[in-house]
Amino acid sequence: MSTETGYIKRAESPTEVHHWYRRTTMSVEPNTRRPPRFSPGASTVTSLRQSNRGAVLKQIILAGETTRTALATNCGLSMASATNIVTELAQEGLIEQTGSKSSRGGRPISLLAPRADSAYTIGVDVGERGVAVELFDFRMNRVDREFSGGTESQPAGSIADDLNQAISALHTRNPHRWDRVLGIGLGLPGLVETEADGSQVLYAQSLDWPAIPIAELIQGDIPVFADNGAKAQAKAELWFGAARGVSHALVALLGRGVGLGVITDGALTRGAVGSATEWGHTKVQLNGRPCRCGSNGCVEAYLGADAIFTEWEDAGGRFDGTGWRALGDLIDTAAAGDETAASIVANIVDTLGAALGSMVNLTNPERVVIGGWVGNRLMESLAPRIERTIRSNALARPGGQFELHASSFGGDTVALGAALMPIEALIAAPTD
Ligand SMILES: [Zn+2]
Repeated sequence: MSTETGYIKRAESPTEVHHWYRRTTMSVEPNTRRPPRFSPGASTVTSLRQSNRGAVLKQIILAGETTRTALATNCGLSMASATNIVTELAQEGLIEQTGSKSSRGGRPISLLAPRADSAYTIGVDVGERGVAVELFDFRMNRVDREFSGGTESQPAGSIADDLNQAISALHTRNPHRWDRVLGIGLGLPGLVETEADGSQVLYAQSLDWPAIPIAELIQGDIPVFADNGAKAQAKAELWFGAARGVSHALVALLGRGVGLGVITDGALTRGAVGSATEWGHTKVQLNGRPCRCGSNGCVEAYLGADAIFTEWEDAGGRFDGTGWRALGDLIDTAAAGDETAASIVANIVDTLGAALGSMVNLTNPERVVIGGWVGNRLMESLAPRIERTIRSNALARPGGQFELHASSFGGDTVALGAALMPIEALIAAPTD
């Protein structure tokens, strides 16, 4: 199992989960909750079996539809082991046969997929103006969505109210699904630290929120998991998007805030307590512009949406409508020959190139993915310039060893990535 899964084990609440699925009692350190074993070899065998089962289940979710042969190959298992695990997962109702295809030998090959209604997961994109709460089935199709919030930045207390209101609205509309909700994953606008006992705390310094214990955010008995929003986005891209199948990647999130997920050896880099890779608050300018975090010269102070629009406004620019439209107008005005707009856009590209070029030197990625609504808007028309600038700001060798991609998803990537946290806990859960 990857370190990803290990992290989730630590991140989870130590209490047993109210659970529809009796054989699965999820806990922080599942093995420590078991009765002592008398044979020294037994726990090794069990954990190997559990890890193989987790690998197969994850592979089926990642693939969406697959075969026993592909599972055996991708998980490094014998055909017999893969078949046994598939039989077990099907008996538990987590996967099903969705059809078959013909093979050369004549015998049809079964196609296997997650059973959509066997389990549900909730992912939340917690922004500074409100929360988008999304309900996904076990095939990761979004089946419902609720937004709660406003148009202005909110104090920390309102976010908790927004969360509970939105979750309650989803519950009211989906009573028949609620007993199969595995958990709620939160993608948050700040550092999320995980304590040794598994408890988590949000530190949103840029928003001037107090430290918020995650356990106090949501009422009810559904397990709650939390991660930084940019890391949640990176996980969505790693599982289903532009970083799929890639072991080393940078996934940048550019919106009002600026964040980054660094994927190394197929897992997110987390650091000692989980707050690593806060690229948005690394420096691109000594004694530069004031940043919302209280420091100066941070990447976010140049590439965050507010910074971009303030600069344009200060230069006499006029814009209205959504940020998406306004940024499009700025790029179009620059392309039409307006010198002021062109200089602002050039600065954005140069800063992004310098800031990501440094990260390329530090991490040697195979792929760089740029997302978030600001990032997606920039990539629409400026991708070749951005790519050249990143490469020219990195050393020649690592600067020539990555591909640049736009994010695969629209604005909902953080919620999708957050919804994977309860799935990872299920994958890591002990089975007996
Ligand atoms: Zn900062």
